[in-house]
Amino acid sequence: MRIAIKGCKIFDRGDSKFDIIIEEDRIKQILPSVGANYSGFTEIEAGGLVALPGLFDIHCHLREPGYEYKEGIESGTKAAARGGFTSVACMSNTMPPADTASVIRYIIERAGQYGYCKVYPIACITKGQKGEELAEFGDLKEAGAVAFSDDGLPVENPLIMRNALLYAKSHGALIISHCEDKRLSDDGCANEGYNATIAGIKGIPAAAEEVMVARDVILAASLNARLHIAHVSTKGSVEIIRQAKKNGVKVTCETCPHYFAADDSLILDYNANAKVNPPLRGREDVEAVIEGIKDGTIDAIATDHAPHHVDDKNVEFCNAANGISGLETALSLSYTHLVKAGHIALSRLAQLMSAAPARILGLEPRELSDGRRADIALVDFESSFVIDSSQFLSKGKNTPFNGQKVYGAVACTINEGRIVYQDIMCQGR
Ligand SMILES: [Zn+2]
Repeated sequence: MRIAIKGCKIFDRGDSKFDIIIEEDRIKQILPSVGANYSGFTEIEAGGLVALPGLFDIHCHLREPGYEYKEGIESGTKAAARGGFTSVACMSNTMPPADTASVIRYIIERAGQYGYCKVYPIACITKGQKGEELAEFGDLKEAGAVAFSDDGLPVENPLIMRNALLYAKSHGALIISHCEDKRLSDDGCANEGYNATIAGIKGIPAAAEEVMVARDVILAASLNARLHIAHVSTKGSVEIIRQAKKNGVKVTCETCPHYFAADDSLILDYNANAKVNPPLRGREDVEAVIEGIKDGTIDAIATDHAPHHVDDKNVEFCNAANGISGLETALSLSYTHLVKAGHIALSRLAQLMSAAPARILGLEPRELSDGRRADIALVDFESSFVIDSSQFLSKGKNTPFNGQKVYGAVACTINEGRIVYQDIMCQGR
């Protein structure tokens, strides 16, 4: 396929306009836009849209195999493409869990057949995510697993986590830790604090996350092993990781849009779409997460896209499933609450949502330059729009951001030279 994107801005090159010429899966050339026509090319009149490198989600749940009523590889990657993502890493808590090479291969095969973007499976740390016996890291890595995580469930036994970090180190693999001491969260279902008290909902203390962040950082430090911490949500976690990095520990971490674009006041109307694990936190935590993004303590923004069927959410708050459908709102929420709010530049956001996640997984970051792979998102950062979950391409409509006005609609996504998403506005250009 030959595509010519005409007259777009490039995220780190100011207001100048460029044409991006794509042949097959590569960016052939980026040149100043002078209104040239490109016959034989599919032309996209970008009219001032901003080109970003294709986004990379280091943490999402595609639910396949096993929970296709919540999401599948086809619907999930369609949602990803709509969100500007050209690569996603999907978590291991499928059914069966991704603890064998055959499940990893199945995911890769399905993604090759039906995917709208690249899919990188994350395998389990322990067999069946039971926290008892390590999975076969070598086999799993060979089958295509890019990292190891029991996300959704913490590895409770510190000896198992220590062995996992050691084993991963010897395989050149990365452990991604869901940090939560379940004994401290103790069946709570919202952030412990004022709002949970007012709502009469049992709280989860910040310490439930922080004690395990501290534990895993100490274990990684003692072994000189790499560690990535999933969905950091509290002030204390940010501080522990900040100090660890200063001390040279090989730790990286991610947060998610809902930990800086929302706080726990959203639970006050018992909206189950605001129920997520870790829970939406208080204002101080939100500010600390933003500070961590600004000073580089937080390396990446992940969606933790966790689609659920309406029946899993349409129950009493504490019985509702945890999770937010996030692929289609991550960029606009992040742009609105971080860039438009004046905390970071657009180039830093691109780093958080594209280059950094790829690097953490040891993959080549996408770049907008001649000869690189044509993974591109064209985004309208000028006009606002209202999030409407009923229009999501994901099967999961569960978001607490429905009705929120945001900036940063994705107009077109190109994955390896193929248009995988194009909105009506872009089609009409
Ligand atoms: Zn998790």
